Amino acid sequence: MGSLEEYAKKHNVPIIQKEGLNFLLKFIKQNNIKNILEIGTAIGYSAINMALVSNDIQITTIERDPHMYQEAIKNIKKFNLGNRINVVFGDALKTQIEGKYDLIFIDAAKAQYINFFEKYKINLSSNGAIITDNLNFHGLTNHPEEIHSKNLKALVRKINNYKEFLKTNLDFTTEFYQIGDGIAVTKHNIRKGV
Ligand code: SAM
Repeated sequence: MGSLEEYAKKHNVPIIQKEGLNFLLKFIKQNNIKNILEIGTAIGYSAINMALVSNDIQITTIERDPHMYQEAIKNIKKFNLGNRINVVFGDALKTQIEGKYDLIFIDAAKAQYINFFEKYKINLSSNGAIITDNLNFHGLTNHPEEIHSKNLKALVRKINNYKEFLKTNLDFTTEFYQIGDGIAVTKHNIRKGV
C-alpha cells in the first residue's frame, strides 16, 4: 500500500487521509458492510483498502479521468482484486448504477456533493450509510475569511452549502466527525409506522 501512497504524493493525487481511512475501514468492519459504491476512484487507493477489509466485499467505483482510471485498473490488478472491484469509467453525474449499496462513499468533485447525494440516494439500502469526506476542506470551511482566491471561496461556499443541506434534510440524519479532513455519516430516517 506504501507504493500507492508514494505515487499519490509524487503525482499530487488527492487520496483519503490516514485518519479518515481508518475511520472508514472501522465503519465497514463494525457495520458488516458487504457492498460499496464509491464516487471518485482516483488511483484505487481507498477502493483497494476497503476491499481488503474482508474477502466478501464487492465494490463499484466511478472515475471520469482516463489517466486515473487506467492507474486504478493497474493497481487493482496488482492486488488481485479485479473480481471484487468494478471500476466504472465515466462522469458519475451521468452514469446509471443499478442496485442497492450498504455504503456509498462520496469522494469526487466537492462542488457537486449535493448533486451526487441527490442522484445516488436511491442506491442506498434502507440501513445503509452515505459517507462524505473533505468537509473541512483543510480547515478552510470554518475560516472562509482566510481565503483570498475567488474560486476557492466559491468551492468552500459549496461545501458549506452541502453541510447545511445535510443538517436540514428531513429524510436523512447526519453525524459529523472531526476526523481526517472532516467526515459525515448520513443515514435514512427511520419512519415509525410506515
Ligand atoms: N477516493 C480516492 C481515494 O481516497 O483513494 C480519492 C478520490 S479523489 C479525492 C477524487 C477523484 O474523483 C478524482 O480522481 C477525480 O477525477 C474524480 N472525479 C471528480 N468528479 C467526478 C465525477 N463527476 N465523476 C467521476 N469521477 C469524478
